[in-house]
Amino acid sequence: MDLGIRGKRALVCASSRGLGRGCAEALAEAGVDLVLNARGEDALTATAEAIRDRYQVQVTAIVADITTEDGRARVLEQAGAIDILVTNAGGPPPGLWQDWTRDDFIAALDANMLAPIALMTALMPPMMERGWGRVVNITSQSVKAPIPQLGLSNSARAGLTGYVAGTARQVAPHGVIVNNLLPGIHATDRADQLDRGVAEREGITLDEARAKRRETLPARRYGDPKDFGAMCAFLCSQRVGFMVGQNVLLDGGGINATL
Ligand code: NAD
Repeated sequence: MDLGIRGKRALVCASSRGLGRGCAEALAEAGVDLVLNARGEDALTATAEAIRDRYQVQVTAIVADITTEDGRARVLEQAGAIDILVTNAGGPPPGLWQDWTRDDFIAALDANMLAPIALMTALMPPMMERGWGRVVNITSQSVKAPIPQLGLSNSARAGLTGYVAGTARQVAPHGVIVNNLLPGIHATDRADQLDRGVAEREGITLDEARAKRRETLPARRYGDPKDFGAMCAFLCSQRVGFMVGQNVLLDGGGINATL
C-alpha cells in the first residue's frame, strides 16, 4: 500500500532502539525523511547510519533528553519543519502504590505526559498553517487496563490520553490528525527490564519470566517492534485522515475486553 507520505519529514523521539526505532524504520521505508532523537550518542549514530544506508532517506540525529526543556529546545531548534511527530520516551520505573512521592509523580508526568504535550504545542501550529500534519503518541496498554506495578505509567499516560481526546478534535479541521498507539508487551529493552524485575522477585530465570508472560497472551508471543512500526507508519499516512483521537491497542489480545 502506498502510504502517500514520501518526502515528508518526521521527528521520531526516543528512537535509537525499541518501539521508537521500529516506527522510524517503517516511516523510512515509506520514503519519509527523519529526525531521530535519543540520549545515548553511540546507539543513536549507529541507528541513523543503518536507516540512511538501508532506505536512502535523509536522517538527522539529535542527542538530547526529550523529557527536559533544554533537550526539547535543542531538538526543536535543529529539527526544522516537521510534518509528522511521533512522541516517545522511556517509561517510568515499577514500584508499589504507597511508595511513590510527589517527585516520582512529577518525573513521570514530565516524561510521559508533559513532554509529548510540549512537542505537540510547538509543532502543531506550523502543521495547521500548512494544512497537513500527523501525530502519533506512543503510550501504553496501561491506558486501557491498569498495570498494578506501573502506577506512575497508568497515571501519566491517562493524563496524556485525556489531553489528546480533547485536542485532536480541535486540530483536525486544519488537517492535523492525532492518534495514540498503545503497546502491549513487545520484545525490547523495556520488556527485558520488567522481566528481570519479575525474575528477581520470584526467584526464577529471565527465560522463565518471559515464558510466563508469553502464556498470558492469546498471540503466545511478544510483539515485534517492526509490526508496531508498520502500524505507526499507517497512522502517519494519508489514509488515516478520517481517524481522529483514537487509541489503537497492539497487545496480542492480552487485554480481555470486547471494546
Ligand atoms: P526501550 O527502553 O526499549 O527504548 C527506549 C528508547 O528511548 C531508546 O532508544 C532510548 O535511548 C530512548 N530514550 C529513553 N528515554 C529517553 C529520553 N528521556 N530522551 C530521549 N530518548 C530516550 O523502550 P520501548 O520498549 O521501545 O518502549 C517505548 C515506550 O513504550 C516506553 O515509554 C515504554 O514504557 C512504552 N511501553 C513499552 C512496552 C513494551 O513492552 N516494550 C509496553 C508498554 C509500553
